[in-house]
Amino acid sequence: MTAKGPRTPNPPVTRASTILLGQAADLYRTDIRVYGRFGHEVHDGLKSELCALEGAEACALAPSGLAAVTAALMGLCQAGDHVLVTDACYRPTRRLAESLSRFGIEAEFYEPRIGGRIVERLRPSTRAVLVESPGSLTFEVQDIPAIAAAAHAQGALVLVDDAWSGGVCLKPLALGADVAILPLTKYPSGGSDVFLGAALSRDAELGGAIARHVRETGTAVSSDDAYLALRGLRTLGLRMARHQESGLAVARWLEARPEVARVLHPGLASHPDHALWRRDFSGASGLFGVVLRPACERKVHAFLDALTAFGLGFSYGGYESLALWCDPQLLRTAAPWTGEGPLLRFSIGLEPVEALIADLAAGFAAMAEA
Ligand SMILES: *Cc1c(COP(=O)(O)O)cnc(C)c1O
Repeated sequence: MTAKGPRTPNPPVTRASTILLGQAADLYRTDIRVYGRFGHEVHDGLKSELCALEGAEACALAPSGLAAVTAALMGLCQAGDHVLVTDACYRPTRRLAESLSRFGIEAEFYEPRIGGRIVERLRPSTRAVLVESPGSLTFEVQDIPAIAAAAHAQGALVLVDDAWSGGVCLKPLALGADVAILPLTKYPSGGSDVFLGAALSRDAELGGAIARHVRETGTAVSSDDAYLALRGLRTLGLRMARHQESGLAVARWLEARPEVARVLHPGLASHPDHALWRRDFSGASGLFGVVLRPACERKVHAFLDALTAFGLGFSYGGYESLALWCDPQLLRTAAPWTGEGPLLRFSIGLEPVEALIADLAAGFAAMAEA
């Protein structure tokens, strides 16, 4: 807490590359800001809020969630290393992992429900295990403490992409992860209008390695974007409570529909990982999947095209509810996905839940007619 006195609740947005220094002796100082790429007051304000959120000591910002995954992996790994990546990872993370071979880093995909059996995949060269819980699109909950115990016993690090919980209802570092990755683009900023990411850790050495990668690769974050994310963080807890409540209401409604084979929401008792979710999460976000009973592409399109309250689009975490057909981007190599029918993903926003349910009912009616 700073001294009492006139001050603004939020730090100022400083737009500056050059910082004019007072005297020649200041040019090469390392204890003051000398160049805008290294961040301004608003970046520091965002980092300290994020550290408080995740229980971290170090925070590196990156210009997107994917850039934060990149910074964590590339900052901590080097040629000759092996990394284990969940088969249920975000599709662009999969592409990144595959591209690491160009730098001599071998990525191998593992079955997301592997738990402590990850020990069978660990090699002497394994540097990092990347976890995403629940998994992108397919919503498997991962046993982070079991994976961390096995990885740490062999000297490997555990990195958790915490996009789903937005840093609110999952605390990866408290569960044993070494690095928590937060795509701020999603729930934390909450406005669908900014790309930003963060990699957080409790260990100064790990944090330093990630921060060095960010510095050396010039992946700077603008002050305006940092400000938007910081402002979003102020209401994150409130918004998440509403996303959770509305998400569960819509998920339960969908679960009772005849067109639906399964709802992939870890907060539902029917989810295979519900017990694990209850153990490790303190709540849910508004993002979940739905496996329909077998239906052709024309029917799926008719359903989505009839929606007016839901937007069709990628990403999530904003005010607007979104729907997505997932099958065209599903790619698994370690654990094949076996869905009874088409896989849809819903991001439940902040609108009145009755309007969302009425919209989905109209979608199913259009589907029946198609
Ligand atoms: C969206 C997302 C990202 C990437 O975030 P961007 O800011 O869009 O780059 C990374 N991981 C997961 C799990 C995501 O859902």
